[in-house]
Amino acid sequence: MTEQGIPGVAVIGAGLAGVIAARDLAAAGRGVHIVEKSRGAGGRMATRRTRDGLAFDHGAQYVRAHGADFAAEIAAWAARGLAAPWGEGDRFVGVPAMNAPVKALASGMPLTVGTAVAAIEGVPGRWELALADGGRLGPFAAVLVTAPAPQAAALLAPVAPALAEAAATARYAPCLALMLAFAPEALAPPCVPAQRPDHASIAWIAEEATKPGRAAGAERRVVVHATPGWSRAHLEETPDAVARSLLAEAAPFLAARAAPLHAVAHRWRYALVEAPVGRACLWDAATGLGAAGDWCLGGRVEAAYDSGRALARAVLGEGGR
Ligand SMILES: Cc1cc2nc3c(=O)[nH]c(=O)nc-3n(C[C@H](O)[C@H](O)[C@H](O)COP(=O)(O)OP(=O)(O)OC[C@H]3O[C@@H](n4cnc5c(N)ncnc54)[C@H](O)[C@@H]3O)c2cc1C
Repeated sequence: MTEQGIPGVAVIGAGLAGVIAARDLAAAGRGVHIVEKSRGAGGRMATRRTRDGLAFDHGAQYVRAHGADFAAEIAAWAARGLAAPWGEGDRFVGVPAMNAPVKALASGMPLTVGTAVAAIEGVPGRWELALADGGRLGPFAAVLVTAPAPQAAALLAPVAPALAEAAATARYAPCLALMLAFAPEALAPPCVPAQRPDHASIAWIAEEATKPGRAAGAERRVVVHATPGWSRAHLEETPDAVARSLLAEAAPFLAARAAPLHAVAHRWRYALVEAPVGRACLWDAATGLGAAGDWCLGGRVEAAYDSGRALARAVLGEGGR
């Protein structure tokens, strides 16, 4: 219960959808508690930091607003120095890293990181979260699941089969990403510009230093994303094998004069939503269980934002589904 005696809301997942839903609920006076399985907030608005101090935005590359609501949000991030324009006019990136806006929004809210929610247990009005590390949180009046759809469906199935069934209809393309660092002289100047080549294997290639607010660093850092087709074909290979093959595919674009100092692959099994559910969010007022995420509306950061806001409105009884 919150100080005002209002039952609290648990939010599973600290990607943009979860953090935005939590922010709007907190602003309306609801007690919220976010649980995130990875080490911090951001989700697929992700930044990987290596032990050598290299940082790569290996998930979402930029955000772009189509609607006025998200445009105002990006403008607010920019006003706080959390985002800045990059490249073509209406593209923005987080500053100093892609996860910065979500991290800033989550700060100040109760957030448990580094442990996954294994199950939602209990009864309506008194839900509890069983954590993978053996801990428990709760009770909560409502639980909002903002994990990618297949993971959301698995959590919801025992307690909200209809919501789980709806979530399970979303379809994703995977993305294999490659994080590369080269000695400065290994790549020809100017920096590798962000490109979306029309290529069977390479969907995207960009140099981190071309983005605003990044520390220059001694190394030239490049992120490569494989196409959905190439990613599907190589999805179950080891990270080392993916790194070798994807580097070979990217070689014509890099024209590197020397081997990379750092080449690490990352598998995004649920990267880009190909078929969304087609509802702004899922919410069952009778049980206090709901779900949100890009997979409700489409495969972009803005879809996650719109879905998170819609779920907060639904919980507050303002419609929005
Ligand atoms: C390679 C790649 C490139 C992309 N490029 C772009 C782009 O350029 N522009 C764009 O707009 N979009 C892009 N996207 C899509 C964009 O990143 C997503 O649409 C958006 O970030 C999704 O936000 P979300 O909050 O719905 O989900 P997520 O960001 O995935 O957040 C879900 C969170 O739930 C957590 N979680 C899952 N299961 C559990 C559990 N059991 N317990 C606790 N926590 C859990 C996860 O760790 C994660 O942090 C890209 C995505 C990828 C992967």
